[in-house]
Amino acid sequence: MSRGFTQLDANGRLRHLITLDDVPRPVLVELLDRAQGYLSPAGSLPPRGEDLAGWTVANLFAEPSTRTRASFELAAVRLGADTINLDVMLSSRAKGESIIDTIYTLQEMQVNVFVIRDAEAGIHEYVARHVGPGVSVISGGEAHLSHPTQGLLDALTIRQCMGGFDGLVVTIAGDVRRSRVARSAHRALSTLGVAEIRIVAPPVMMPDAAEFAGARRVGSLDDGIAGADVVMMLRIQRERATGAGATDLVDYHQNYGLTAARLGRASPRAIVMHPGPMNRGVEITSDVADGPQSMIRRQVANGVAVRMAVLAHFAAARGRPA
Ligand code: ASP
Repeated sequence: MSRGFTQLDANGRLRHLITLDDVPRPVLVELLDRAQGYLSPAGSLPPRGEDLAGWTVANLFAEPSTRTRASFELAAVRLGADTINLDVMLSSRAKGESIIDTIYTLQEMQVNVFVIRDAEAGIHEYVARHVGPGVSVISGGEAHLSHPTQGLLDALTIRQCMGGFDGLVVTIAGDVRRSRVARSAHRALSTLGVAEIRIVAPPVMMPDAAEFAGARRVGSLDDGIAGADVVMMLRIQRERATGAGATDLVDYHQNYGLTAARLGRASPRAIVMHPGPMNRGVEITSDVADGPQSMIRRQVANGVAVRMAVLAHFAAARGRPA
């Protein structure tokens, strides 16, 4: 975020959620605790609440999304809000209206929360600077930079499976350079006290040296996975790859694909994660993705709970809109 902008209010609570960069540990823990309370056993009815009764949540997604968009909508509805979903690419922008005019228009319709996914860095903060008092912005993904609710759901999944963060070795492997998921996971896990974060990538997918402070950089997946408690695989971001970044997928799978044999090098209690959508047979094989160590479906369940927790946090911080 740029200087002079903060997403926290005067009481240190979230007014917006655009990045995990400045979110203090107690707020992260509060969100994880809240999210835990929004989970119910598979097959039972999902928890509901009235925290957002009277609120309106607008999902503005300018990039494709299945999980994130659906889970934000379910989270809002299950807390009693009205929701609208707009494909901003197809609507106002295509007609030449600037995003800020779209925001002002929706604000007049008494939208209280904007959930925005956009490939352009800085849009979320720009919108947050322009919304009226009592209106919040949540990022549902910003370029390659940030995906805060994904970082939270990843942290929640790890806490559930490992009982905490102390002493863990977490390996984040794949297209790290272009991954907002990796950046937000690194931020959340660093704040929560994970002892060792390894990032594993071929040179072309390794992030710049100034990024991922404190993480160990490893060029080989076989080495990077050894003894890991958590193995987080990333999707190859083919849509973000340009000429030099293009990758031979067969070759990539040979060297950086997670197979059952490779997973055998991790700790015996290791869990496997992936944010989805998966390129099966490229960064991960199906037997691993669907195997007993995979928490990939649990991540999806946690995604709804975490988004409910963020919305409920806003409601608690602000009280009901008048
Ligand atoms: N769904 C995640 C994202 O929006 C991960 C991915 O697309 O690779 O970043």
